[in-house]
Amino acid sequence: MTFFSYILLATLGLIIGSFLNVATLRYDPDGGFLNIRLFGGRSHCPRCRAQLAWYELIPVLSYLFLWGQCRHCKQHISLQYPIVELLTAIVFVAIPMRIESMSYMLFAGSVGALSVAHLLVSALWVAVFVLFIALAVIDLRHMIIPDFIAIALGTIGVVLAGVMQWFGGFSPLRGSFMGHYAMIFGFRESIWVNHFFAAFVGLIFFGLIIGLSRGRAMGWGDLKLAGALGLIFGWPDIVLVLMLSFIIGSVVSVGLMVRGRKTMGDAVPFGPFLVIGAATVFFFGFRIMSLYFGSFGVV
Ligand SMILES: [Zn+2]
Repeated sequence: MTFFSYILLATLGLIIGSFLNVATLRYDPDGGFLNIRLFGGRSHCPRCRAQLAWYELIPVLSYLFLWGQCRHCKQHISLQYPIVELLTAIVFVAIPMRIESMSYMLFAGSVGALSVAHLLVSALWVAVFVLFIALAVIDLRHMIIPDFIAIALGTIGVVLAGVMQWFGGFSPLRGSFMGHYAMIFGFRESIWVNHFFAAFVGLIFFGLIIGLSRGRAMGWGDLKLAGALGLIFGWPDIVLVLMLSFIIGSVVSVGLMVRGRKTMGDAVPFGPFLVIGAATVFFFGFRIMSLYFGSFGVV
């Protein structure tokens, strides 16, 4: 893809990112299904209610020239705004690049950038990551993973599997972010058996944790998200997603306890760690597997 199309994608990402900020801030956990109000109501400062001028609505830049403060009352503006905007812009650029760079692992034959397969699969993964950002922010703010996000992710997972199947993207050698290492773990005859089995693994795994901890360690939202991640990633990628999210989650939780920010009994939302695990597998799954197997001298 050309430099210009990446600039366009980054700009689109910044705009979608600022909508994500509004959507996640206006999210009301008691409001029921699809209660995110995206439009209507001018944006204003949450403290002094001053309406924002057009130039205060420009993603990232407005944060920088306002020095992270409201122009009227000097209230600090949450770092969530520029972080979510930047992450969304990165997602819009990095995902099409990643899909292009691993097209030999995902598609039969050669698939160039801007081919139908590349565009469709990239668009579906961008949608997955936009939902990831929304759910991470909502889980951090409200300790809840909304059902409609898990349902949307699961649905995209099924569509993605159908699209991959259509473009010959599934075989013993293709269709996994672990590349050919996935063959060791079997279940590579049918993409549908593979992805539904992965969803089942995610659900059972969290079901056991919830059962054994009597609901204290994880919630039903985490379980539904793990099922959706199984539909998206398939087997054995889901196992790597779960392992990485638990490793990263424990390191961060221990770090927070050491710094006195949390104690053993405090709940830490797990959704963001599942998202980080999923993103790590998407971008680095193959590299992790080749490092791991390479350390035993296996290629
Ligand atoms: Zn203000």
